[in-house]
Amino acid sequence: MEKHQSNTQQTKKTSSRRQKQNESRNQRRRLWKNAIKAVFGDKCQDCGYDKHWEILEFHHVIPRKISGRPPLTVTQDWQWEQFRDEHLEHCVLVCPTCHKERHINDEHKSLQFTDEADF
Ligand SMILES: [Zn+2]
Repeated sequence: MEKHQSNTQQTKKTSSRRQKQNESRNQRRRLWKNAIKAVFGDKCQDCGYDKHWEILEFHHVIPRKISGRPPLTVTQDWQWEQFRDEHLEHCVLVCPTCHKERHINDEHKSLQFTDEADF
């Protein structure tokens, strides 16, 4: 019984520590968003959509598989200057619709259709 109680306390301690970690991560994420917003602007660069900035996405002008750059999630711990240098010239901020359109356009370009009847 005593053992069970100490286990419960341990769990409480761990979860409050985790909560603190989450809070600082959220705080950092907010700061990053503001910084990114300041650099990239707060609207879709293709259609000007600006209702919900949070849903805007990065489009890599140079595909990651070619540039060899890591995904954005890996860069969370990077220094801001490094992020800016790595991404500023390779990314545009676009809404999800325009993001998909850009990828479709890229695919069409690389497929090189010779005949419209192929569609
Ligand atoms: Zn758009």
